[in-house]
Amino acid sequence: MGQAITGRITLNLVAGIVITVVTVVIAILWMAARQNEQAQDSTYTMVSGGVAALGRRVESLASDYAWWEDAYTAYQDGDVEWFDTNFGESVEEAEVADLFAIISTDGEIKHNWMLGDGFAVEDVLTPDVIESIRGLAEQLSEESLAADRGIVRMGSVPIVVGISKITPFLSDPDIDPKSLPLLVVGQALDDERLARLGETFLIDDLHFEIGEAPSRSSAKTAMPVIDIFGETIGHFVWTPPTPGYAVLQSVLPPITVALALFCVVAFVTAFRARKIAIALTQSEKEALLAARTDGMTGLKNRTGFNEVLESSECQSACKAGELAVIYLDINGFKAVNDSIGHHGGDELVKALTARLRSVLPPEAIFARIGGDEFAIALNGKAVRDTATGAASAVVHSLDQPFTIHGFEFHVTVAVGYAVAGGTGLTPGEIVRRADIAMYHAKNGAEREAVAYHSTMETGALEKKQVEIALRRAVEEGDLKVHYQPVVRAGDLSIVGVEALLRWTSKEFGTISPSLFIPVAEETGLIHDIGRFVVDRAAQDLLKWPGLKMAINVSPVQLRDPNFADDILGIVDRYGLSPHQFELELTEGILVNNPTIAKRKLAHLKHIGFILSLDDFGTGFSSIGYLRQFPFDILKVDRSFVRDLGINSTANALIQSLVSLGDAMDLSVIAEGIENEEQLKLLRLVQCEYVQGFLISRPIPADEITALLERLGQERRFHVGREPERRAVAS
Ligand code: C2E
Ligand code: MG
Ligand code: MG
Repeated sequence: MGQAITGRITLNLVAGIVITVVTVVIAILWMAARQNEQAQDSTYTMVSGGVAALGRRVESLASDYAWWEDAYTAYQDGDVEWFDTNFGESVEEAEVADLFAIISTDGEIKHNWMLGDGFAVEDVLTPDVIESIRGLAEQLSEESLAADRGIVRMGSVPIVVGISKITPFLSDPDIDPKSLPLLVVGQALDDERLARLGETFLIDDLHFEIGEAPSRSSAKTAMPVIDIFGETIGHFVWTPPTPGYAVLQSVLPPITVALALFCVVAFVTAFRARKIAIALTQSEKEALLAARTDGMTGLKNRTGFNEVLESSECQSACKAGELAVIYLDINGFKAVNDSIGHHGGDELVKALTARLRSVLPPEAIFARIGGDEFAIALNGKAVRDTATGAASAVVHSLDQPFTIHGFEFHVTVAVGYAVAGGTGLTPGEIVRRADIAMYHAKNGAEREAVAYHSTMETGALEKKQVEIALRRAVEEGDLKVHYQPVVRAGDLSIVGVEALLRWTSKEFGTISPSLFIPVAEETGLIHDIGRFVVDRAAQDLLKWPGLKMAINVSPVQLRDPNFADDILGIVDRYGLSPHQFELELTEGILVNNPTIAKRKLAHLKHIGFILSLDDFGTGFSSIGYLRQFPFDILKVDRSFVRDLGINSTANALIQSLVSLGDAMDLSVIAEGIENEEQLKLLRLVQCEYVQGFLISRPIPADEITALLERLGQERRFHVGREPERRAVAS
């Protein structure tokens, strides 16, 4: 775009310069041409005026000589001598005209006098000419001095003739005008005379040409010469002066210099302007880029990222269900900043950026959208797989620590992602969903990347309402406890149940405990809820002798100094023993507060509760760390079971987790088994207990009671196509 603008500016400037120069040149040429035209017009006027003046002179000569008493008398008397003396001498000596001729009333040339040799008067006054002259004479008025004129041709010379009737001085009514003879005075317009006429008007080459006028393209001007018969006998031709060109010649050098100077100045200005425009567009481009780039990492910033998402490419990818967005947030970044300072924090962000970049597909749009927040956009046909892979790669790329300023840092991230999924969503919506999934991951202290699911919406959007509704649910007893059987992997005999909270809210419908438990923890409601679960579980357990009751305990509950006493009180109240209860704890508590956790767990164990480590494998604890805590059971997280039979790593992982449990003398429960293949593999690796939808979903207490009745004495489940009696494995 910038280039187009500078191009346009340059083009406009150059066009301006060219137009100016062309206009000036045209104006000057036009002025010169106009001046020449005017000069031509004025020579025309002068030549025609000159010829007319000559005509008038010849005409008045004729009337002067003809209006003469003596001449009339001499004619009447036939006094030839008188004529020779007065007329002949005027011609031959005084040279007042080139020709004098007296024509009788019957058209005969009575007397004539002529200058020049080689011509006879008959050459000029041919019978036709005389006839014409007589015609003219007839039209002369009867007044004294009446005369007329015309042009006749003699060879190549036009001759102006003036005519008048020879008449007495005083007009005599007795004289019949028709009986009067005519005087013809002729003046040749030969080259010499025309040259003289030309000199008067500063015209060099005025001459007479017989025939057609010279062509228009020649520089000559022509004036038609019409004879006494009304025919064009030729033209007076001359070269008119061209003062315009003369002026042009004199002004051209300074104007050329001025124009050249103008061009130089204009071009320099144009180039300067172009340079400035280029510099401006460049700096505008840089500013635009800077506004979209994160200075520290060189990645796109939030604005840049949003812009990419708004691009038509992303919009259409989104419509086609081929867009995914991954959001990630560094855990505990503030702590890093606090311990090694902001500079160290910056170094960490840079190192982290480089590492993340190295595990992302090259076409991924990677942006830093906040201090410790990053976003990744992916598109393409198999975007769901790409996004799942990339999100997981991001999480695991941080397994290795970073060394900053000589300190080693283990960094974890909360990763959430969302895929367009062909539902015609906007990129903005995908971003919002990825963000929600990320918060979900963060709140749940998830070790793996979390994919968006619509059930997350409630927690993310309406936390406050959830809190209010949950408080009411606790007060009004709207919470329910369901139980999921835990069975021995070998024979599928039921050994216990896990109590899992259920809440169906009037406003939100059924809400997952993973959504409302964090709210309960934040608001402190977890204490009441926790006591309610233990109470209900103990009450229900009374109906199921011989089974163990697993109860989930949140770290927040464990921090409560009265926790142990409280639950022991409840257990006692129902006449039950702590040995019938397994308390399920997650790894978070061990990492965040190991000393207190160790003390509390030791106390609970001491009273008689069985301790189980829930969601094992998703948290942060190392094996060495784990040994310090008095757990009895390891619950291998569902995420390990999910991939069983799908990839060999999962099989090997389960194998080693089970071996680990054995080595540490812990019972192992595999969570979340959903198919027989998984069960088969778990049996193969000698996993002791399993729990999952394959056996039973979490169900209300009544259904557990009914189930136990149905299972009978052996209390064994029968799964899939296995015949009832053969369900027991080795
Ligand atoms: P958890 O303790 O790991 O519970 C097991 C979760 O896995 C339960 O989800 C259960 O319904 C689900 N599950 C069991 N078998 C399968 C299976 O085969 N496939 C799949 N996909 N899922 C299976 P639920 O009930 O939504 O509970 C989620 C989490 O909420 C629990 O994870 C636990 O951490 C927490 N929670 C539930 N009840 C309580 C409670 O009373 N107190 C506390 N503090 N936390 C609770
Ligand atoms: Mg549990
Ligand atoms: Mg679990």
